Parts: sequence; C-alpha cells; structure tokens
Amino acid sequence: MTDLGNLLEARNRHISKSLSIGHGKPLHIVKGEMQYLYSSDGTRYLDLVNNVCHVGHCHPKVVSAGQQQMSVLSTNTRYVYDGLTDYISRLSNTLPDGLDVGFMVNSGSEANELAIRLARAHTGNHDMLVADGGYHGNTSMLVQLSPYKFLGPGGKGVAEPWVHVVPVPDEYRRAGVDYNQEMKDVISNARNVAGFLIEPMLSCAGQIPLPDDYLKLAQTYTKEAGGLLIVDEVQVGFGRFGTHMWAFETQDVVPDIVVLGKSIGNGHPMAAVFTTSEIASSLGEMEWFSSTGGNPVSCAIGNAVLDVIEDEELQEQAREYGEYFLNGLRKLKDTYPVIGDVRGRGLFIGIEFVCDRDTLEPNAEEAGRVVRGMRDQGVLLSTDGPHHNVIKIKPPMVLTRQDIDMTLDLLNDVLSANGD
Ligand code: PMP
Repeated sequence: MTDLGNLLEARNRHISKSLSIGHGKPLHIVKGEMQYLYSSDGTRYLDLVNNVCHVGHCHPKVVSAGQQQMSVLSTNTRYVYDGLTDYISRLSNTLPDGLDVGFMVNSGSEANELAIRLARAHTGNHDMLVADGGYHGNTSMLVQLSPYKFLGPGGKGVAEPWVHVVPVPDEYRRAGVDYNQEMKDVISNARNVAGFLIEPMLSCAGQIPLPDDYLKLAQTYTKEAGGLLIVDEVQVGFGRFGTHMWAFETQDVVPDIVVLGKSIGNGHPMAAVFTTSEIASSLGEMEWFSSTGGNPVSCAIGNAVLDVIEDEELQEQAREYGEYFLNGLRKLKDTYPVIGDVRGRGLFIGIEFVCDRDTLEPNAEEAGRVVRGMRDQGVLLSTDGPHHNVIKIKPPMVLTRQDIDMTLDLLNDVLSANGD
C-alpha cells in the first residue's frame, strides 16, 4: 500500500469521521514554507486557505524563538517571568486604552468560553446573542452558540433558549433590509442578556462584511439590554484587514471584550482574551488558571509573530495586496456571470458563486469545481457560507504579487473551462 494509503487506513481506524479531510482528494503534506505547502510527491501548493500560519508556515524567526525558549524554560503563569508580562503588555498596547487585562489560553474555543464566562460574571445575566452563520468554537457551549453548527449539517436545527440569533446583515443576498432595526428587534426581545459575540467580518457565514457602524450599534443595543459586546478576532485580527491591526477598529468601536486566536501563535496553540480591569475582576474570589496558556514558549512565539508583522510590514502589505487581489477578482467577475459578488478587506476575501445574478440562486457546484480545478493547478482554496458557494481567500500574509497574478490567471483558466 502507498504511504498515503497506509495513512488513510490508520486515519479511518483511529480518527473520528467527524473530522473530514479538506481539499477533496486527500493531500499528504510533508512540509510547509511561508505561503507554500509541499506534498509527498514534491508538488508545491500555494496556500490561500490557512489564516493560522499568518506570517508564513514555519517562519524561521518564529521557529527559532520557540526552539530557543523551549530549551531554556517552559513553566506556567503562576511564576513571574519576562516573556509573559512583556507579551501581554505589548498586545495590550496594540488595543484601545482600557483593554488592559489579558488572559492567555490555548485555543480560540477556550478564549470564547472565557469571554462568555467574564460577560456572565460581570453582568449577572446568562443569555447570549450571536450572528447567524457564526462559528465560535468546538466546546459543548460554543456549539450551542454557533448557528453554523446547530443549524448546519448534524445540528439540532433550533437554538437553545439562552441563544438569540441576529440575522446576517448580508448586503448582497439581503439587500435593502434594515439590518439595524432587525438587530435591535432581536436584542430588545431577548431577556437576561450577558453579551453579543460577533466577528467584525462574518467568516463562516460567507465572508460577509458588516455595514458601517454595525458593531457600534450592536454595542449600544446590547448595553441597553444589560450585556457586553464581545468581538471575536480569531480569523480577522493581527493586521489581516490591512488598514488596522484589529478588524473591529474599522467599525469605530471599543468592544468590552476582545478574543484573539489562530494567527496569534502562527500555528502554535495559543489564544487570548483582553478586557477592562473592571470586567476582568468580575471573576471575584474564584481562581482562574490555565496549565499551559501563556507559558514562556507560547509568549516567545507570540512575541516573534508580532516582530515579524512589524519588521516585514505585513499589515501594510495586506492592505496593498488585498486591494490588488480584490481588483483582479472584480475583473474576473466582469467576465464570468457565475461570480455574483467579490468582497472583503485586506487579505480576507470572499467570492460568491450564483446560478443567476437576478435570482442569486447559490451555485455551490461551480464554487466546488473551481476549488478542485485550482487544487489540481497547485492552489489551495476552500468554500464556506450556508450554501457552500463562497470561496474564501485568507492566505498567510507573506504571499507575493506573483502569487496573486498566478492565482488570477489560473482562476481565469479554470473558470473559462466550465462545461468542457
Ligand atoms: N472563533 C472563530 C471565528 C473561529 O473561526 C474559530 C475556529 N475556526 C474559533 C473561534 C475557535 O478556535 P479554535 O479552533 O482555536 O478553538
């Protein structure tokens, strides 16, 4: 049996079927290097999917920072060490004044759990608001709070009584709707509100940008109902939007709690929650501790990620290349009617496929065909959204103009081959 055959056989035996393989045909990946992944047969793939490896797969500065620290000290946050305080202060300095207290954990799910625990402790309320299509983590509670899961395949199809779902302010599919009123109605009909957990661009819902001032209003309405605004920056943070370090900054709002993850550790399991000292102190006498969250190795890696973002001016690059990518994709949209919409900010982009630009009937088949066709040409993409008809682009931020040109050319080839 081939290597891949053996791996798949073992995988089928020992790994849950609930964990599917991405990119259709299984890929046996053996090496990652900046924006590229290499398979066992030596093929190089441009990775346009992985926003976790934010500054590039195996970025040498990040690898070396982790290796070095691992050989010196790895302990826990009940000890005092430079790495932790340096790192938390540095992250806090990138956030608006007041968001001074950080908690270090190991995953975005853990961070969202803690954010909700803080909101509940601070407000004394229990219920949560969430945007439709949202995914916020893999724990029991977060699955109950993720419409992407409970309304998606295998879900129960209904929200728990403590979960209130705000419809997606989708300016493409639901043009003309008064999203603010709709949000206000859901919030004012909810009781006992502890918080509204929302992303600054709705990723799993299909790369949906929020209308101007949406988060600000979300905070106002939620506050009126007694709750806090929790912004989930797990997918979009760390400069990916190009114009700002944090995506919520494009909405002129200071959230009560901010959740960071994925790119924070460039693939090393890390996440963080930042909030005000007042909200942080709501846990009161009850101790909070994570055995590995904020350990010296994670802090060294997190610090190196911030160094690389600054030294290589990756936020500015996301702005410039994002614009360039979006313009190229908009040209493809002019040529191919199956592309109904191209949207995004910086290097967080969505291409929505439709059967018909008037009815907007979703075209998951064509989106899937393009993803498979691009994979065969060495470019990795994925689809998302409730209709699986949106191609997501969220690459390591170190990709080059040549990578973008190549992607646009290949997309043109694959799109023009429709019906062959
Ligand atoms: N929030 C968002 C917006 C996410 O996309 C994810 C993961 N895809 C999470 C939270 C959960 O993060 P993790 O997988 O690190 O637990």
